[in-house]
Amino acid sequence: MDSKKTNIPDEYWKAIVECDPAYDDAFLYGVRTTGIFCRPSCKSKVPNPDNVRIFPNAYVALKEHFRPCKRCKPDGLQLPTEEWIEQVVEWIDLHYDEPLTLNMLADISHGSPFHLQRMFKKVKGFSPAEYIRQVRLNKAADLLQTTNQSVAEIGMQVGFSSTPYFITLFKKKLGVTPSSYREDRRNHDGNAND
Ligand SMILES: [Zn+2]
Repeated sequence: MDSKKTNIPDEYWKAIVECDPAYDDAFLYGVRTTGIFCRPSCKSKVPNPDNVRIFPNAYVALKEHFRPCKRCKPDGLQLPTEEWIEQVVEWIDLHYDEPLTLNMLADISHGSPFHLQRMFKKVKGFSPAEYIRQVRLNKAADLLQTTNQSVAEIGMQVGFSSTPYFITLFKKKLGVTPSSYREDRRNHDGNAND
């Protein structure tokens, strides 16, 4: 849901208008019309205050689907690599059902695809693509247990564009086909919830 108009504290608005770097650690601001967020010191055009949203940090801005400004690099500047990668993880967690690519993730998180791939792997121990597959499979396993949707529907719903690929990958990673997985779980219905 779209957020309501934000009241900007006078002090913050002044910092935006004057591009005051003293406030760079205090807050970031996003512009609703462009979906971009900036540091207060950014030399970009002063936005219409009605469209401005104040964020405590880049993490929150990204979570709200704003993208970092390429000019002032609000995330690159303030965030350690671990946090940068956590932002990407968070993004994947929210958008796993969309057709995600490394380029897209790099664009959103304002890094190069090469750097993102390397740092993601360094921090998490696996690549972004592997993480996306893992999230999708987890969601699929969950849906197999909790819904009556068909295997094909579930595959599509969690972001796999091909059903055979979904089934093959599921079996490879979980050791059983999606249908068997569902049956197995149904047969354990008598067990206590955990
Ligand atoms: Zn900026």
